[in-house]
Amino acid sequence: MSGDTKFSVLVSLFNWMQKSKSSAQKRSKFRKFLDTFCKPSDYFSAIRLILPSLDRERGTYGLKESVLATCLVDALGMSRDSEDAVRLFNWRRGGPKSGANAGNFALVAAEVLQRRQGMASGGQTIKELNDLLDRLASSENRSEKTSVLSTLIKKTNAQEMKWIIMIILKDLKLGISEKSIFHEFHPDAEDLFNVTCDLKLVCEKLRDRGQRHKRQDIEVGKAVRPQLAMRIGNAAAAWKKLHGKEVVVECKFDGDRIQVHKNGSEIHFFSRNFLDHTEYGPGMSDIIINNIVVDRCILDGEMLVWDKSANRFAEFGSNQEIAKAARDGLDSDRQLCYISFDILYAGDTSVIHQTLKERHELLRKVVKPLKGRLEILVPDEGLNSHRPPGEPCWSLLAHNMEDVERFFKETIENRDEGIILKDLSSKWEPGDRSGKWLKLKPEYIHASADLDVLIIGGYYGSGRRGGEVAQFLVGLAECPPANTYPRRFISFCRVGTGLSDEELEAVVTKLKPYFRKYEFPKKSPPSFYQVTNHSKERPDVWIESPEKSIILSITSDIRTISSEVFAAPYSLRFPRIDRVRWDKAWHDCLDVQSFVELVRSSNGT
Ligand code: ATP
Repeated sequence: MSGDTKFSVLVSLFNWMQKSKSSAQKRSKFRKFLDTFCKPSDYFSAIRLILPSLDRERGTYGLKESVLATCLVDALGMSRDSEDAVRLFNWRRGGPKSGANAGNFALVAAEVLQRRQGMASGGQTIKELNDLLDRLASSENRSEKTSVLSTLIKKTNAQEMKWIIMIILKDLKLGISEKSIFHEFHPDAEDLFNVTCDLKLVCEKLRDRGQRHKRQDIEVGKAVRPQLAMRIGNAAAAWKKLHGKEVVVECKFDGDRIQVHKNGSEIHFFSRNFLDHTEYGPGMSDIIINNIVVDRCILDGEMLVWDKSANRFAEFGSNQEIAKAARDGLDSDRQLCYISFDILYAGDTSVIHQTLKERHELLRKVVKPLKGRLEILVPDEGLNSHRPPGEPCWSLLAHNMEDVERFFKETIENRDEGIILKDLSSKWEPGDRSGKWLKLKPEYIHASADLDVLIIGGYYGSGRRGGEVAQFLVGLAECPPANTYPRRFISFCRVGTGLSDEELEAVVTKLKPYFRKYEFPKKSPPSFYQVTNHSKERPDVWIESPEKSIILSITSDIRTISSEVFAAPYSLRFPRIDRVRWDKAWHDCLDVQSFVELVRSSNGT
């Protein structure tokens, strides 16, 4: 009978897979599960639980660890200040007895659940579990979610509940790739998923696992796995890799990768993980309908925000805000702008098998560009050849390595993210990252002066670094009166990468005696520090006082971003610790004013 595969069987598979060391063993366990224990009619019900991040049938749960912790505490009827509740809220840090699980929410939750749930399986089927998960996703508020969780807790044991929590968090940590799961299921599963992004369809169409499936092409209305770019170190290496090919170099825009699907007046905006971003509809749908001359098509490109008064793209991160403003009919200087750099479908046919050069021609025919709203990225013959002086060139045919280098330099000077090189003779291939597109980005550069910042707080790591401070909140000094030491420090950015394990350990050991925990519920930071109210900026520990702390030299991508989260007016993009300044005293910290001057001079404003 359909729908009667028990969840406990899937849980045994998860436990086995997790225990198996080699990927061959994991794969064979999964194959055995499909061959022996799972009915074909249950394939989708089971596989959506194994690959939860690919499942689009169910909406999002709206449950990240912190909200999930609150809901679980309530569902279990625990007091919010009980020892176990605090352990759940502070899952990164772990309690005195749970050091080993710190940093893994599901394990900390399993510990708590074990003390409250029985050992016997509740006997749920995977169908019943999916129905409850549907209810969890569709419940509108926290109390409804809590009530679904409490039903789940009643129907399962602690083991099962641990896996359900991992499914909700969409990461099972099984150590097996999505590719292997697809491969064991059916030889055509990955290809079919790449062109439909529809897990249900894949599981249902390929239910007969012995029967090969006819290769399917892309369709308007079904998201396609995007083609991706391979990272390359420098212009010379990129040129060598594309040796002998006709090459176009394009600006790498820093927005949202969006596929626009037009079917008459029906428009979809699919993101990289195939969610339909309907919020772009009010600002963009009419523009797409009126300026694309074919009835059906799929465009590939980037959604950005165009700033009309500055006559340039706004910085990354404002898309959602502008989408909302467009929906509410608010007039603003900024508007959504879609840049299409490829076309995948036109009229009644897929065109991904055509060359990029042919697809560029088609883009020219199909899209009527509208300045600052809908643009196409097709090459100019020479730098700025068709553009008024001073307007940046976004796409260029490169004839030699010098062209690439020059374009890269100009792009970086214009503060764009980098460039993409593309083989003009290549097809567009779903999910491919094999090097038909190459991306070249600036390396981290040293800012024109050292950015010497003071550690003011620490964040516990997760996984391998669970239970130990692994990242720092750093601050800039508030300008002190002449000849005095700074008295206040303004939070500036969070930084974790750059140090070796030994260096990190040395810093953490030195600072450990001065860590002061940021307890739940909220407690103010020490008075030396200025922070905003943003919760992301609350470190797990504060440094008791600045004199006890250490200076770090930070490097960063050349661009800064204005700061909504941290108290300083700018924060860094991709910050990285260059070295620990054991040689500097705490008061040698860069001050805010000098930093702002530094940003202004490097931005040329
Ligand atoms: P990154 O973090 O460097 O943006 P990524 O992992 O998000 O990389 P990649 O495939 O490595 O994605 O880089 C390609 C991404 O760059 C695309 O997904 C797209 O969002 C963006 N992009 C910006 N401009 C272009 C362009 N002209 N052509 C192709 N992709 C572009």
